[in-house]
Formats: sequence, structure tokens, C-alpha cells
Amino acid sequence: MCIFCKIVKGEIPSNKVLEDDEFLAFHDINPAAPVHILVIPKVHLENFQSVNPELMAKMTPFIQKVANLLELDINGYRLITNNGDDGGQEVPHLHFHILGGKKLPWHRFDDANPKEAI
Ligand code: 5GP
Ligand code: ZN
Repeated sequence: MCIFCKIVKGEIPSNKVLEDDEFLAFHDINPAAPVHILVIPKVHLENFQSVNPELMAKMTPFIQKVANLLELDINGYRLITNNGDDGGQEVPHLHFHILGGKKLPWHRFDDANPKEAI
């Protein structure tokens, strides 16, 4: 069973922000911003490539609710989902990172060429 499934089951403790029948939001154990929340579906899905539109349609308002609850809607926030190796995904259970609490840096690559199609 994956680490986030264990959090859903309560086998691993988490600092919860919001929960309903299908989704859970909790604080990231190793925050990358002053506010760093993870939002997951309770059902195990590997990543964004596996999510169906019906579940995403329900996950969207849940994420917005978390942002509102933490008042991140006022100054803004960043929403990220890492997919697979190149995306830097470490936990193979779909999750969205909500990052906020300050103006966040935005990294750019100096070796990227927008004219080059991969
Ligand atoms: P990924 O790199 O897969 O997009 O993000 C995984 C995130 O899960 C990381 O930011 C990491 O800090 C967080 N994380 C890993 N294990 C735990 C845990 O046991 N509890 C909590 N709250 N966060 C975790
Ligand atoms: Zn899982």
C-alpha cells in the first residue's frame, strides 16, 4: 500500500486541513513554501494521467475550498501536480500541491529552446 493510502487509512498520521468522502487535504511534511498543502483523492490513482474527468470535476471545487479556507484566494497560490520521473513525482498517488503564503519564485531553464519540438 502506498504512503498516501496509509494516510487515508490513518495508519500514518497527518495534519489534516479538510476531508470529505472522496478527498483529503493535509500539510506537506517537508514544506516548500510558507503554506504547503497536499490534496489527494482517497482512491489510489497513480497520477494525473490516470484521473478521469468525473473525479477531476469533483476535485476542482475541493481544491478551491481548501484555498478559501486558508485564505490563499486573497493573494494567490500555486497549484502543481508532478507526473512521473521527469515531473519529479516521488509519491505514486495522485496529489496536487497547493503552495502559497508568499510571492513564489518561478524557475526558468536557460537551455530551453521554445522553437524546438521534442
Ligand atoms: P511529489 O514529489 O511526489 O510531487 O510530492 C510528494 C510530497 O509528499 C513531498 O512534498 C513530500 O514532502 C510529501 N510527503 C512525503 N511523505 C509524506 C508524509 O508521510 N506525510 C506528509 N504530510 N507529506 C509527505
Ligand atoms: Zn495510494
